[in-house]
Amino acid sequence: MEDVVVLHAKALNVDRISCLQLMSRAPEIAHHLGYAPGGIQKGSRASMGMSREARAFGGGVPSMELGGVTASLQSIGASGTIKPEAKRAIAAALRKVGILADGDHVAAMQDRRQLVVVEVPRYFESREDELPLLVDYKVGGFNHQRAEEMLQESRLWDTRDDCHCECSLDADRTLQISRMQRIENMKVFEKFKLYEASVADDLRRRRQNHASPVYGMHPWLERLASKNGLSSVSNTVYLLHGTAARNLAEIRKEGLHSKFSLHGSQSYGQGLYFTVNSCKAFQYAGDGGCILVCRVVLGKVEVLPSECGARFFARPPAHSAKAQAGYTRRQNAVQVHDEYIVFSGDAVYPEFVLHVA
Ligand SMILES: [Zn+2]
Repeated sequence: MEDVVVLHAKALNVDRISCLQLMSRAPEIAHHLGYAPGGIQKGSRASMGMSREARAFGGGVPSMELGGVTASLQSIGASGTIKPEAKRAIAAALRKVGILADGDHVAAMQDRRQLVVVEVPRYFESREDELPLLVDYKVGGFNHQRAEEMLQESRLWDTRDDCHCECSLDADRTLQISRMQRIENMKVFEKFKLYEASVADDLRRRRQNHASPVYGMHPWLERLASKNGLSSVSNTVYLLHGTAARNLAEIRKEGLHSKFSLHGSQSYGQGLYFTVNSCKAFQYAGDGGCILVCRVVLGKVEVLPSECGARFFARPPAHSAKAQAGYTRRQNAVQVHDEYIVFSGDAVYPEFVLHVA
């Protein structure tokens, strides 16, 4: 049976269009979007530009004037309640005529009646129907070395002598990585990208200046963010999260959940905790544990007050909370490391796994 997609198609004057029709009318749609008629090649090039634009806007684009694949799909009124098979068929049709690039992937945002183009990292090999992959990096290879340098250089050396550093990692202990892996999980990645797009939307709607830099970010993590095109609109950054090795199988399958990150009385609420300091991540990883390098959507960050109660949940308009070093207090103990807290697993994509030796 042919997949039928419901479209409003105000400008194209169609109420319903099948994927085959969508495909056959691609030149017309391309023209409607402002491409030269019949210029599929031009269209492909333009779609690359539009993809870049969509990425710059965190997966969405604010208006038709600015173009973008999302806007183009919205402009033809693509409904947000598209079944997975239809979604795949649309993506295949758009890909075939060059409107969608090979690495792009279409996801439907449930309650917003819009499609989001998810740009899958170039190195991803897995597809949405497949089991999540764990890809090994070469031991002693370039990435392995850079990651190990990052662990060594992102420790909080300065405050260690004051011994408020609750992570208490011995100064002479060198953190080594026995194995470095990358998780490729389309299902978790898609949820993450949809969440990221909704945060970008939210910030755009409120026209808020959310810029809230993360201090003490290791240069390798910054370079990685820029190389992998993390969205600055939604304030997405790479941060560290320590966890026991026994949690890895579940994290690989389902991503991070707050059950992996309950800190009991030490916490500011049931959430997922991240840091830029390897010593802090190691506190939760422990010997033989894992330090995860995660994409984290921080959005608007709320700095927790200096007299913070034992439990805290981020309140709108904030999307995340920050326990700030030297400022946020909990039971008379001042925070030593900056910690970032998000309250949904969808805000996180655990990407690299560093097995601590
Ligand atoms: Zn520390």
